[in-house]
Amino acid sequence: MLERRRRGEKTPRVFSDRMKKDTQKVLDEFKAIFEEDGGGDADERLRLLSLFLENGTHLTMEKIEELVREDGWDLKSETLRSYISTFTNYGIIHRIRLDGGTELYEYRDLDTHHDHMICVKCGRVQEFTDPRIEILQEKNAHIHGFIPLRHSMTLYGICQKCGGGRARVMPLSLISEGETVRITDIGGGRRIRQRLVSMGIVPGKDLEVIRTPGPGPAVVAVDGSRIALGHVLSRKVLVSTNHTDEK
Ligand SMILES: [Zn+2]
Ligand SMILES: [Zn+2]
Repeated sequence: MLERRRRGEKTPRVFSDRMKKDTQKVLDEFKAIFEEDGGGDADERLRLLSLFLENGTHLTMEKIEELVREDGWDLKSETLRSYISTFTNYGIIHRIRLDGGTELYEYRDLDTHHDHMICVKCGRVQEFTDPRIEILQEKNAHIHGFIPLRHSMTLYGICQKCGGGRARVMPLSLISEGETVRITDIGGGRRIRQRLVSMGIVPGKDLEVIRTPGPGPAVVAVDGSRIALGHVLSRKVLVSTNHTDEK
């Protein structure tokens, strides 16, 4: 019996009608495979799988642990991880490894394949499919005498919510690596302003963020030169993140 207590739903979840409908079928499939595999008590695993299937997709392990806690379930992290690996072993859950080592878990749909677009600002994962891309991949594999078994394609960038729409002005320190922005203004006192202008940081110029300020300074490119900007300076430079239609 899968009895679950719903605690306050803090975060909006993404539900897919198809997935909701299939939950019981997937649980039954898991149970059958688990029994065939000589597994004994499947109840806890079924409870976890059901929780996973009903709470969206592209979840990090931390997010899954949070769901378990919100469900009022005191499941040891180690046990949870071993259950998840059973699901991945049986092809029920798919693990996606991202740049930088983050891992996301999603339900592995047997009928459809999709690729991912991941926002480097908010972490939002969008799915997309285009049969033309799939065909081109097969065609290219064939040309090279390669037998494709699987593939994953992930585009990293900035989602519509984070970068789309009207021009947004923000401090340079908040801009992601690889983004090109336009300098709109320089804050701070006269000395800071003079210093930045002497470095070539002038309103109206475009600037590419090569490295964001972390332990060290930010590195930006302006007029074909790389410039290092410390934390204080990079907070004083105001930039516009969407300037293509202002030209
Ligand atoms: Zn975003
Ligand atoms: Zn996905």
